Amino acid sequence: MFAMASDAMRGREAGTLDEMRATAWVAEQAQKIGLEPAGDDGTFFQWWPMDRTRLSAASKLSIGGHALRVWKDAVVISAGDESIDLPIVFVRDSAELARADVRGKAVAMEINAIPTQPQDRFTIRGNFQSTTSQYVRQRSLMLARAGAAAAILVSDASPSLDTAFEATAIVSSRGRYAIDSAGAPAGSYARPAGGRGGAGGRGGPNLGNVPAFWVRHDMLDAVRAPGARLTALTFDENFTYPSGNVIGLVRGTDPKLANEYVVYSGHQDHDGVRYPVKGDSIWNGADDNASVSVAMLAIARAYVKHPAARPVLFIWHGAEERGLLGSRWYVNHPTVPHSQIIAVLNGDMIGRNDPDSAAILGVQPPHKNSNALAAAALRANAELTHFKLDTIWDRPTHPEGWYFRSDHLPYARAGIPAVMFSTLLHPDYHTPRDEPQRIEIPKLQKMADWMYATGWIVANAPQRPDVVPGFKLER
Ligand SMILES: [Zn+2]
Repeated sequence: MFAMASDAMRGREAGTLDEMRATAWVAEQAQKIGLEPAGDDGTFFQWWPMDRTRLSAASKLSIGGHALRVWKDAVVISAGDESIDLPIVFVRDSAELARADVRGKAVAMEINAIPTQPQDRFTIRGNFQSTTSQYVRQRSLMLARAGAAAAILVSDASPSLDTAFEATAIVSSRGRYAIDSAGAPAGSYARPAGGRGGAGGRGGPNLGNVPAFWVRHDMLDAVRAPGARLTALTFDENFTYPSGNVIGLVRGTDPKLANEYVVYSGHQDHDGVRYPVKGDSIWNGADDNASVSVAMLAIARAYVKHPAARPVLFIWHGAEERGLLGSRWYVNHPTVPHSQIIAVLNGDMIGRNDPDSAAILGVQPPHKNSNALAAAALRANAELTHFKLDTIWDRPTHPEGWYFRSDHLPYARAGIPAVMFSTLLHPDYHTPRDEPQRIEIPKLQKMADWMYATGWIVANAPQRPDVVPGFKLER
């Protein structure tokens, strides 16, 4: 835990060398434990190409003759390959917008700081960066709907808008990520994960083809000057970068069951180096998801010592945070046939919150896709770990949509029995404060015990788990 979530790993962001370092580290630990390599070409690795599109930093933008540097002086809210030269009209408010002739013009408007949680106390909802950038996007949309050919949002003088501006620039400049689905078998599991991909420019409300830019307060005079024009020459750049899954195997003891694999699943990536909170810019991802990554190593060690009847595969996925990309890649390019994967025990964030409570997802309809797998997990808890189980987060009505946010999902969509173990959200989720010293180590051990015991039941049961007929997720 303390190695994998250390600052030296720099947050293990997919699409950087830092994720590759973490991927190599996990494989090295797997090898030391005695797992058999089960990736490509006799290695622990399944490398795959991650597709990345971002706005080129060489894009050019100017307002009233002032050249603006993309991501430094201007946050690009929406733009693809654009070549524009438009007169700017400034409007004070929505009433003035309604009266103005904005067709074929770039419409500029000042935005005011909105109340958000203070930067050093931000939590899951309402953090200053995402709340403010959503607000800026909504304002852009308002201008676009009024008929503007381009939108320019100018910060007012409040320092909190400047902070949100810089944080949004750091997040949005990363662009959008995807897997190449060419050659993938047809099926709903090949589709993108809902709402998670697209860290960049075009997420959220659809701005259509209207380019939108957010600039700092010092541009206010420039957009109000008579005859001012907006010129922009922006373009996307597209490139591929390797991400990887680490795959290790413990063979079973019963040769008749050699083609029935139990899969343990987690992800080794996190969010990298982003905007600082209280001076710390490394988003360590200790709970998310070093917790499961190291639990899987412990579980693997147990299976190496005492193999089960069936074989057990351990898959650490890359690029989960970029839209479940590693698990989607694996399901599209499995190393063993889908029909031979009898259960997926995925974990995401298992080391925080109340020591006696935990959650399992995929055990209530419509998320439950195997009665036997759900029963095995509940039995293991009843007999061994005795967590008080949360029953709220597995419901289709839960606002967080937690079931749709981790690596079991592509497997479930492919008709493979799957559950997800989690100790759920906390205020340090996706912040630089998700650090190893905040992990509840005894709880992490107990969660590892629970995952281990569940897999042990499944891997030794007389029958493979059933698949619920007509399984259909709510989205
Ligand atoms: Zn995660």
